[in-house]
Amino acid sequence: MKQSSLFTKTRREAPADEVSKNAILLTRAGFINKEIAGVYSLLPLGLRVVNKIKKIVSKEMEALGSSEILMSTLQPKELWEKTDRWSDEKVDVWFKSALKNGSEVGFGWSHEEPITNLMVSHISSYNDLPQYVHQFQNKLRNEVRAKSGIMRCREFIMKDMYSYSRDEKEHMEFYDKTTEAYLNVFKKVGLGDITYVTSASGGVFTDKFSHEFQTICEAGEDNIYVHKDGKLALNEEIFNDETLEKLGAKKEDFEMKKAVEVGNIFTFGTKKCEELGLYFTDKEGNKTPAFLGSYGIGITRLMGVLAEVFADEKGMVWPKEVAPFRAHLISLGQHSVLANEVYEKLQAEGVEILYDDRNLRAGEKFADADLIGIPTRVVIGDKSLESKLYEVKERNSDEVKMLSLENLIAELKQ
Ligand code: ATP
Ligand code: MG
Repeated sequence: MKQSSLFTKTRREAPADEVSKNAILLTRAGFINKEIAGVYSLLPLGLRVVNKIKKIVSKEMEALGSSEILMSTLQPKELWEKTDRWSDEKVDVWFKSALKNGSEVGFGWSHEEPITNLMVSHISSYNDLPQYVHQFQNKLRNEVRAKSGIMRCREFIMKDMYSYSRDEKEHMEFYDKTTEAYLNVFKKVGLGDITYVTSASGGVFTDKFSHEFQTICEAGEDNIYVHKDGKLALNEEIFNDETLEKLGAKKEDFEMKKAVEVGNIFTFGTKKCEELGLYFTDKEGNKTPAFLGSYGIGITRLMGVLAEVFADEKGMVWPKEVAPFRAHLISLGQHSVLANEVYEKLQAEGVEILYDDRNLRAGEKFADADLIGIPTRVVIGDKSLESKLYEVKERNSDEVKMLSLENLIAELKQ
C-alpha cells in the first residue's frame, strides 16, 4: 500500500481525552478513531492488525473442529428470561431497546442463549454431537468504566466459541484441547511468555469450573499472583489459605502482578440446555440435555494489550505475526523511480509493504515509521543508487544493514 493513499494522518500530540497508553498510541498512529467513550472505529492499519489476530485465532479454532458462524446482535428478551439472565440485576452490562411494536430486545453481550436456541433445531440424537461453533462478533456491553482504551470497550470484537457435548467427559476433553489452542494463540501473537492460565474457581468440578488467560500488563485491571517458578498463577479471588493449602504452596512464593484478561473459558454444564430445551436421545434412547462449554477471546482487547506491551518512547513495535505490514519502505529525496521498482518487486514476491512515497522530509518519515511500528524499515536513499544496496533496520534494534534486493526479499519472506 502506498502511504500517500492512506487517508489517516499521524499525530504528534496525544489526544486530550485519552488517558491510556494503548489508545494514545493507536490514535496518534492512525489505527483507531474514538467515536464516544469506550467505542472505537478501526482504521486501515488497525483493521489489518485485527485481521491478523483473527486469522491466527481462526486457524486454531478450525483445528479444534469448530465451524464459523455469525449470529445477530439483536436478541429477544424471552430467550434470556428462560435462563434468568435478562434482568439488569443479573447482568449489569445489558444495552436494551424495543421494536416499534413494543417487543423488547437486547444487544448481545454474549451468545450462549441464542446459540443454544439455534442448536435446538439441529441437534436431536447422540449422532449429532459433539458440535463446536465459533464467531467473530461485535459484542455490546454497557461497561461502567471505560478508561483502558480499547482494552475495555462498550463495543468490541470477541471471538466466542460454544461446545455441545454428550457428557462431562467428552466436554472436558474438548475443554483441555481448547486450553492448549488458546495458549497457542497467545504464543503466536507474541504474548506467550507473559500469559498465564489462571484458575477462576479453585479448579473444582462445579458448573462454575472456568479458567482465565491473563497477560501481565501494567495497565491491566486485574491482579494475579505468579509463583516464583513462573509456571503457576492464581487469580486474586482464589488467592487464599484454602487454595494455597490444596496446592501445598506458600504465600510468600507468589508475587502480585497487574494483568489483563485476554481470554476466558467456561464449563456451563447441562443447566442452560435444560432451560432452553436442548435435549438429545442417547444410545439407550433416553432424553438427555447437552453439555455446554463457552470460550471467549477479546480480539480488539488483544490489539490494545500488544500496543501496551510492545512499545517504546517512539511508538509501537509490532511482532511480525500481527504487524499491519511486514516492511515499511521509505524513499528519500529524488529516488522514487528506484523505490517504485523495489516496491513492485517486493509486492510481486507477496511481501506486505507500506511504501512511504510521500514528499516529506526524512525526519518526518522516520518518526512516522517509528510511531507506526512496522517490524522492518527499508530506506532507499543516495547510498542505494549506485550500490543497489538498501538500508535495512529492524524496529526493535539500532543495527543498520545494507542488503541487496535478493537478500532483502529472502529476509522478508522468512
Ligand atoms: P472482564 O473481567 O475484563 O470484564 P469478562 O470476564 O466480563 O471480562 P468475558 O465475558 O469472559 O469477559 O469475555 C470474553 C473475553 O472478551 C474476555 O476474556 C476479554 O478478553 C474480552 N472482553 C470482555 N469485556 C470486554 C470489553 N469491555 N472490552 C474489550 N474486550 C472485552
Ligand atoms: Mg471473563
